[in-house]
This record gives sequence, C-alpha cells and structure tokens, in this order.
Amino acid sequence: MTKFNALVVDKDDDGRTSAAVKKITLADLPKADVTVAVEYSTINYKDGLCIGSGGGLVRSYPHVPGIDFAGTVEASEDARYKPGDKVVLTGWRVGEAHWGGYAQKARVRADWLVPLPDGLNTRQAMAVGTAGLTAMLAVMALEDQGLKPGQGPVLVTGAAGGVGSVATAILAHLGHEVAAVTGRPDTGDYLRSLGASRLVPRQDLIEVTRKPLEAETWAGCIDAVAGSMLGRVLKQMKYGSSVAAIGLAGGAALEGALITPFILRGVNLLGIDSVMQPYENRRRAWDRIASDLPLDRLETMVRTVKLEDLPALGADILKGQVKGRIVVDVN
Ligand code: NDP
Repeated sequence: MTKFNALVVDKDDDGRTSAAVKKITLADLPKADVTVAVEYSTINYKDGLCIGSGGGLVRSYPHVPGIDFAGTVEASEDARYKPGDKVVLTGWRVGEAHWGGYAQKARVRADWLVPLPDGLNTRQAMAVGTAGLTAMLAVMALEDQGLKPGQGPVLVTGAAGGVGSVATAILAHLGHEVAAVTGRPDTGDYLRSLGASRLVPRQDLIEVTRKPLEAETWAGCIDAVAGSMLGRVLKQMKYGSSVAAIGLAGGAALEGALITPFILRGVNLLGIDSVMQPYENRRRAWDRIASDLPLDRLETMVRTVKLEDLPALGADILKGQVKGRIVVDVN
C-alpha cells in the first residue's frame, strides 16, 4: 500500500509526547466518508497544544494534529463530494479528537467540509485558515449588532497574531479605523501594512483598574486576549457597542470586569466559536473572506513551512512568538 508523510505525535509510558514526520498508509487513517489529498494546512494556537502536550484536547495516541486543511477530494462515499472537488476543512475537533491535516492525506466526514470558495486557491484558503474564518465570523457578528465604518476606532487585541492579523486587514479594507493592540513593538510596520491606523501598546490595557467606566473610546472590538485586557476594554467601549470575544491568549478568566459597561452603556459581549459553526454561516463567512480580504495584504502576513518545521513552531506559537499566518505545505 502507498505510503505518505504525516506528522505523528506519540506518547511514551511516562506520559511524555514527541512529534516526528513518519510514513503512514490509508489503512492507518480513521474511518469516515471522504478521503482528501491534503495540499496545505496551517498552524494555530490549538495546533501548538496538540503538537506538544495535547493540552487536554487529544483523545488518544498516536495522533495526527492539524485543525484545518485544504485539498482535493480523492474518494467519497457521500453524494455531496466527488473526486477532484476542492475542499476546505476547519473545526469539528479535527486535529484534536480526530486525525487532522498534518498529513498528505486525511479522511473526514462530508458534513465537516465546505467547498473551496470561488476566488481562493487552496494555499490562500489556508493562509486564511481557522484564524481568518474566526476573524470574519467576529466581523460579521459586530456588523449584525450595527457596527459601520465611521462610528469610531475598532480595537483588535493580539493584533500581530493569526486571528488579529486577519481581523486587522478585513476591518481596514471595509473602511474601519483600526487600533491594533500588540505586545511586540517591532510588529508596528507590519500592522500598519495590514491597515492599522493606530498602535496601542499591550501595557496600556492589561492593568486591572477599579474604575467602573473609562472614557468611551472604541466603536467595536475583536478580542483574542481575554484576561485583564478584556475586563479593561469593556469599560472603554462606546455606548451600545459590541466586543466579539474570540480567544484567551492572555488568560481564560475575565479579570477586573464589572457589570457597569453592560447596564450603564448597553455594551454587548459576543461569543465567537468557529469549531461547531453551522454550515450556512461557514459558507457565508468564506464568501465574505473571498470578497473582503485583500489577497495582496493576505500575502504579506504569510510564511510557508514544511511538516518537519512544525514541532519547533508549535512551541513558538504557545509562547506568542508567531507573527501573522503560517501555511504548511504538506507535500
Ligand atoms: P496567535 O498566537 O497567533 O495570536 C495570539 C496573540 O495574542 C499573540 O500573537 C499576541 O499578540 C497576543 N498575546 C499572546 N499572549 C498574550 C498575553 N499573555 N497577553 C496579551 N496578549 C497576548 O494565536 P491565534 O491568533 O491563532 O489565536 C488567538 C486566540 O484565539 C487563541 O486563544 C486561540 O485559542 C483562539 N481561537 C479561537 C477560535 C474560536 O473559534 N473562538 C478560533 C481560533 C483561535 P501581540 O504579540 O500582537 O500582542
């Protein structure tokens, strides 16, 4: 049987995990109805966890991580897909509970796939990836609550990371004034090239204050950080505005938050989940990405790596040291 490459994570008797590129066969893949020849995957924060200790996400070993991928259908037992179709997968706990995209082939459920959106190739789709899909879901949620260009600056936290970079580029392209929060001053030129008009040092927003409210400053916010930063940002939101909470890079607790922004300013806190997102909304988000994310800006935030590079990059992303988006060319 033909052998192909996969990044396999294994666990030894002492509970230590290790990741290495190995040869596997189709017979090794989990059972499901569509087999995809993977072309590109990416690296997200969750991938860092799954390449490393597992972070409580991986159910059993050996395991193939990779929470998203794009490629071409090779075999399908489902009428919605046929060999040759280009497809994208994000979410559904693929790469965590089910083997994922860090392999030259993957076998998944048809329900988890979406057709590659018109206007994007498989590499571009993975330059967007779960991070970009999440950024677009957040933009759509803010728009559904009434956000329009001209209402004031929109804050993006964790701006130099994957979700933050794409969120910055989309918001700027849509005509919003974007204020980018970063803890890495050396990413200033990069963030301005994506369309940020203002940089906010991380230090300005992480201190917990006792004040019930601060000056109304932000017309909207996409928050990848949570922790004390989200508690602080809520107090600075304009009347009736919304924060889309997408991540917890700065901690899972909502530190220093008070109820005052909600009951005195009608501020909304919107939760964004990309993993179990219903099919129709996924399609809508991918279509919006194809129309509202300028591909030249996307290109400036992308670096391409190979399967062999992933163990080191997995550690880097957990330390917040990855800038922008990384595409994994699995072939
Ligand atoms: P990245 O690591 O690429 O980006 C996170 C960014 O957050 C970093 O680049 C850094 O930005 C900032 N940051 C990191 N640590 C801290 C800290 N201690 N305090 C303040 N800021 C910090 O990750 P992703 O963009 O891929 O993911 C961001 C978050 O979103 C993660 O928590 C991830 O789990 C979550 N996520 C959620 C999804 C969902 O469906 N809701 C989908 C995808 C991701 P800078 O250097 O600019 O300050």
